[in-house]
Amino acid sequence: MGKTSKDKRDIYYRLAKAEGWRARSAFKLMQIDDEFKILSGVTKAVDLCAAPGSWSQVLSRRLFENDQNARIVAVDLQPMSPLPGVIQLQGDITQLETAEKIISHFDGENADLVICDGAPDVTGLHSLDEYMQSQLVLAALNITTHVLKREGNFVAKIFRARNITLLYAQLKMFFRDVFCAKPKSSRQSSCEAFVVCLGYNPPTDYVPSMWNPLRLPTYEDLEKSTPINQRIVPFVACGDLHGWDSDRCYPLDIDDLLGPLPEKYIYREPVQPPTEPAYKHAVELRRKGALAKATNYLAQTIKHHVPKIQ
Ligand code: SAM
Repeated sequence: MGKTSKDKRDIYYRLAKAEGWRARSAFKLMQIDDEFKILSGVTKAVDLCAAPGSWSQVLSRRLFENDQNARIVAVDLQPMSPLPGVIQLQGDITQLETAEKIISHFDGENADLVICDGAPDVTGLHSLDEYMQSQLVLAALNITTHVLKREGNFVAKIFRARNITLLYAQLKMFFRDVFCAKPKSSRQSSCEAFVVCLGYNPPTDYVPSMWNPLRLPTYEDLEKSTPINQRIVPFVACGDLHGWDSDRCYPLDIDDLLGPLPEKYIYREPVQPPTEPAYKHAVELRRKGALAKATNYLAQTIKHHVPKIQ
């Protein structure tokens, strides 16, 4: 690909370079802000998954340049070059210590706004990528419940994939208003969009927890769970993860045995075959040599009754 071909294809990529943004995604946040005014009145902001830092740049230019008292904390697994007015934390948004460090920069107070443009490393396997992205959004929402003040706002990147309504339902439990925003700078061909969640208002009995994100209970928890736990159907993984894998094919003779099977394959009848299987009649016909006749008759009947499609 030539040096200029990406410039030709992508106007925002070109604009970003011209305006000094570290990534074209800066435009997405600015367009969301233009529509929803999420930065208005904000003095404490958190940028989750911030590197290389174009969203932090927007916060720096739109908040810090107007008010030097504005505090901006940017978190990422990766290090990031410094920006005016932006405090950088190299950390994982799934960790409690990251939430504690964020709050420590706000003198123990909670943030007015949390934004997250996080993305996991893409594998190219759609289902896996969608799943990883949805987990990252949930992680962002979870850490947000530790650091956001009541009535504060939350913006996060999502992929509008199959189970997105479940995420919307979860967000609606925590925010007064939830919108799905698609900025112009986000390509139409991409299922990328942004949830804009306004007015943080968690359920009354909700207690933020990192080890148990969004209060999705483990089986043992159910006994001591609060009413908010019981509104969510828990998903419990059961069984030893080192055991047999139901999605894998194994050879008939297996030398490396994990379970109660002989190493040399022997065929065994089913312990309890079905008593009235749907195929029983066909098996009887075949035994009498009448199966071919019956299928011929069926074919003729179909031919006779179903008109030819021209
Ligand atoms: N918003 C950024 C900008 O405007 O420049 C771009 C973010 S980039 C698309 C996604 C980032 O998410 C990566 O830098 C990655 O390191 C970060 N990330 C992924 N998982 C993370 C995690 N668990 N904790 C912190 N950062 C994470």
